Amino acid sequence: MPPDLPANDFSQQALRTDVAGMPLEWVDYRDAVRLYCLGQVAYSCGSLLYRVRGGISSRSGLRSTVEVNSIIATVGRSPDLGGGPRDYVPPLNNKTLFRRDSNLCLYCGLVFQSRELTRDHVTPLSQGGGDAWNNVVTACRRCNNHKGGRTPEQAGLQLVAVPFTPTYAEYIYLKGRRVLADQMEFLLAHIPRSSPLHRRLARSLREKREPAWIR
Ligand SMILES: [Zn+2]
Repeated sequence: MPPDLPANDFSQQALRTDVAGMPLEWVDYRDAVRLYCLGQVAYSCGSLLYRVRGGISSRSGLRSTVEVNSIIATVGRSPDLGGGPRDYVPPLNNKTLFRRDSNLCLYCGLVFQSRELTRDHVTPLSQGGGDAWNNVVTACRRCNNHKGGRTPEQAGLQLVAVPFTPTYAEYIYLKGRRVLADQMEFLLAHIPRSSPLHRRLARSLREKREPAWIR
C-alpha cells in the first residue's frame, strides 16, 4: 500500500487515543492505516495527515482510500498501563528527562544540547536518593561535576525548577517527535493546569509554534 501523494508527510505521527479520548500513544502512518483497515478507528479529529491508496475492491471495482487524521480514537486493546493512566509512572530515560526540563541545566539555568547534558540525582544515590523522576534533574556537566556526591544545599546550589513525575499525557507529549498544534491542544486538555508543562504548551500554542526540541 504505497503512499500516493508526495505532499503527504509520512514522517508525521498520529496521536492515538481510546474511545473516551484518553491519549494512548503515537503511531506512524503504517500503524495508523492498519487501525483504519482493521476497523478499529471509532472516530477521528484534528487535521488530515495523509491519504493512502489501498487495493481495488472486488465488490465495487473502485480503489479504496484511507485518510488518516492527526488524532484517531480507537476501540480495542490499549497499551498496558498497569494500574491505569492515573497511577502510571513513565519509564525514566535521559531523552525524556531533558525534554521535561527543556534542555535547561536546572542548576545554572542555561540551555544545552542533549549531548552536553547529564542526569543528576538531587539527593545523591550514595545518600539514599532514588533514581526516580522526582529526584532527577537535567544538569550540565560542569554543574554536575561541581555538585559531585552532595545535595544542592551541601554544594551551595539552588534548583531553578522542581523536578516532577510526568503524567501519562505529559509523557506522551514529551515523547512526540513533532507535535502538531491540534495534537498539542488535545494533549493540553489532559495535562493538569498546575503542571509546568501546561504553561509551556499553552505558550507554544499562543505563539503558534511547536516547542523547539534541542537534540
Ligand atoms: Zn549547569
